[in-house]
Amino acid sequence: MEDGPISDRPAGAALGSRSNLVSASMSRLLDALTPPLCPITNERVSAPGIIAAHAWAKLRFIDDPVCARCGAPFSHEVGKGVECAGCIADPPEFDSARAAVIYDDASHGLIVSFKHADRTDLTPLLAQWLARAGSGLVTPGALLIPAPLHPARLFARRYNQAALLSRAVAALTGARFEPMALTRLRPTPPQKNLSPEARRRNVAGAFAVRADKAALVAGAHIVLVDDVLTTGATLSSCARALKKAGAARVDALVLARVVRGGTALA
Ligand SMILES: [Zn+2]
Repeated sequence: MEDGPISDRPAGAALGSRSNLVSASMSRLLDALTPPLCPITNERVSAPGIIAAHAWAKLRFIDDPVCARCGAPFSHEVGKGVECAGCIADPPEFDSARAAVIYDDASHGLIVSFKHADRTDLTPLLAQWLARAGSGLVTPGALLIPAPLHPARLFARRYNQAALLSRAVAALTGARFEPMALTRLRPTPPQKNLSPEARRRNVAGAFAVRADKAALVAGAHIVLVDDVLTTGATLSSCARALKKAGAARVDALVLARVVRGGTALA
């Protein structure tokens, strides 16, 4: 029974229209107080979730030719299936990786906003970039799995940006999405400022497949999703855990990747 005021209209309808009005008014008020800003240039834009027109020119989208394994862009045309020197010398655990953009000042600002400043309104735009970059990897049968955060970090940040992206890419591509398959067994200090070898040690054995998701992972084509690929240590550690659990293939899809001297080193 309703305890609210008696009305000649259904209570839900009355509350719904009033709450819609309140919500629209609040939204206009919030827009006026905090106008939507471009995450790259910080200038005002017409709506949340978009970037300013000239910010596009600051981003460096990655296109072929790239290393067949890690997706590092090559500076000149090479044959199909060619791998970079880093992958030949020290192959990553994942089968291949692709990134949407080069990690630089522009994409750094975008990713920091997305990760740390509650700019989840950027998810649809970034998911489109990922779907484009991963068009050769993300098949309808693939299982998208986000790189996991440790629960303490998830609690502090309130959302896992990789899980938001995975879900949105799955919706765009028809791939499957499983946010809970991988778990981070221990908190790891941020990889920033660590040498490649220290990064590898930092995340070695840090991930495992949850026992209740093992059957889902066994024999599956997995596409790991993360925001940035620097040395590939985190994604390699995740891939190792997934393959140990019987994954048939593990690829990686990231928003941005570090490139050194025009060609990335894995
Ligand atoms: Zn490579």
